[in-house]
Amino acid sequence: MQHKARLITRSIFVIIFIISIVPSSPTLASSGVFPEDLTLREYIAKPGDTLFSISCATGEKLSMLLWRNGISNPTELRPGQNLHLAPAPVAVDLSNWTVHDVALGEELSSLARRRNITWESLAQANGLLSPRALKVGQTIKLPGEVPSTTYATAGVTPLVSALRHDVPLWEVLRLNPNPVYRGAGVLIPYATESEPSLPYPLKALEISAESVVRGQTLVLGLETGVPAECTVSYLGKTEPCYNEDETHLYVMIGTSPLEAAGEYEMTVHLEYGEGQTDITLPLLLEAGAYGRQWINPPASLSLLLNPDVYFGELNSLDPYRALRTPRRYWSLPLDLPFKIRPSISAGFGDSRSYAGMFETFHSGIDFRAWTGVPIYAPADGIVVMTDTLQVRGNAVILDHGWGLMTGYWHLSKIVVEEGQAVQRGEIIAYAGNTGLSTGAHLHWEMWVNGVSVNGLQWIDEACFGEVVFEPTEEILITAPRSKTVIGLAE
Ligand SMILES: [Zn+2]
Repeated sequence: MQHKARLITRSIFVIIFIISIVPSSPTLASSGVFPEDLTLREYIAKPGDTLFSISCATGEKLSMLLWRNGISNPTELRPGQNLHLAPAPVAVDLSNWTVHDVALGEELSSLARRRNITWESLAQANGLLSPRALKVGQTIKLPGEVPSTTYATAGVTPLVSALRHDVPLWEVLRLNPNPVYRGAGVLIPYATESEPSLPYPLKALEISAESVVRGQTLVLGLETGVPAECTVSYLGKTEPCYNEDETHLYVMIGTSPLEAAGEYEMTVHLEYGEGQTDITLPLLLEAGAYGRQWINPPASLSLLLNPDVYFGELNSLDPYRALRTPRRYWSLPLDLPFKIRPSISAGFGDSRSYAGMFETFHSGIDFRAWTGVPIYAPADGIVVMTDTLQVRGNAVILDHGWGLMTGYWHLSKIVVEEGQAVQRGEIIAYAGNTGLSTGAHLHWEMWVNGVSVNGLQWIDEACFGEVVFEPTEEILITAPRSKTVIGLAE
C-alpha cells in the first residue's frame, strides 16, 4: 500500500511535470500530440555514463532527471542504476473528439474511464491543470464513448470484476488505468447478461496488490463455499497454499529481485470434494529502483572472497529454504528484530560486487548495530538453525510457518537452540561482526517459500492491502531441544 501510494505520488508528479512543461496545451492538442501513455520509461546506467551524457542521449533535461530520480548530486551515478525518464509522447488522433457540456456530478476521472483514456490525457487535451478543475456547464473536448462496456458494482475490485465477468484482468486494468477509489464503479468490457459470480467454489478473493515490485511478497486470500485445498504455480514452480481453516486459504508469493520485471501468470489449483478448478491470474512484477553495492573487505577476510566458499555456503542453506510449515505462528505486522533506532547501511535487493571478485545481490537488509545489541524474534517461530558459518558468521534461522522464515547473520552470540520455540520479543542472539563482515551490523534476511524477499514490507500491515490475517494464538508447543531439525531432508 505504501508502495502503491508512492507510485501514485510519482505518477502525479510526472503529470504535473508534463502539464507544467506544456503551458500552451491548445497548440499541442491541435497538433494531435500529447502523452497518451503515462508509463514511465526506464534507462539503466552503463559504465562510463554520466547524468550529463544520459541527459543528452535521452533528451531529458538534467534538472528533471535529478528531480525525477531523487538525486541531489549530479555526480552520483552507479553503473546498473535504474533511472526513470519522462513518458514517451504518443500521437493521438483528435479529429473525432466532440464538445461536451459538463453536467452536475461529472468528474474528469469518470468521463475519462467511460472513454478508455487516462484522466491525465483528458486534462492535458483540454488544458486543465487539476483533476478538480471541471465546472458544471464548462465545455470540454471528449473522445467518443467506448462501446460494449459497463460498470461493475461499486466497491468491487478490478480483479474480482474480471473473474466475475470472465474477462482477462489485463482488459479491465486497461480500461481502469487509474486507482479505483473505494465506492467507485469499475469499468468492464463486454457487458454480460448472466448473473455474475466467482468460479465455483470460490466465494471471495482478495489480493494484496494488483502488482508488486520484484522482491516484494504478494498475498491472495481465498474463501470457498466448501472445504478446499490448493496449490499455486508461478515462475516455473509450484507451492502449497496455506489453510487458515477448511474454507479460508492463503497463497504466499515471494518474488525475487533476480526475476525480470514483466507480466507473468499464477495459477491457483483448487481441489474440493469430488471436483477441482484452476484459476489463472496475472502476476505483474515491477522493476523497482535497485542500486549497486561495492564491498571491499579487508585483507584479513580475503580467504572468504572465493566464489566456491561463498556460493557453497549459500547452497548449503537450501534444505532450510525448502521448509514449508503448514501452521502459521506469525501475525502482522512483524516487529523489527531490535529495539535500537533502525538505520540501514545496505538495503535489500541491490546488486553487489565483492571487490570485483564475484557478483551477487544483497538478499537481506543490513541494519547498523554494535556488538552486543540484543536481537529479538520479530514473530513467534521455531529455531531451525544455529550455526557458525564462514560467510554469515554466527547465524540463526527462524521458521515462522506458512513458508515465512527469517535469518540473522554476523551475530556475536546466540542464545537459542535448534528446535526451540521462541515468542515474539524474545532475545535470540546479540549483534556482532562475525563472518564476511566489515563492521558490526545485523544482516536480516527474510524468505517467503524459500525466496529472499524484502522484510520491511512485513513491518507494516498496510503493505498487505485488503488481505486480512486473523491474529494467531501464542505458541503453546514446547518443541524438544534437540540438534535435529524437524522435517529437514539431508
Ligand atoms: Zn547484508
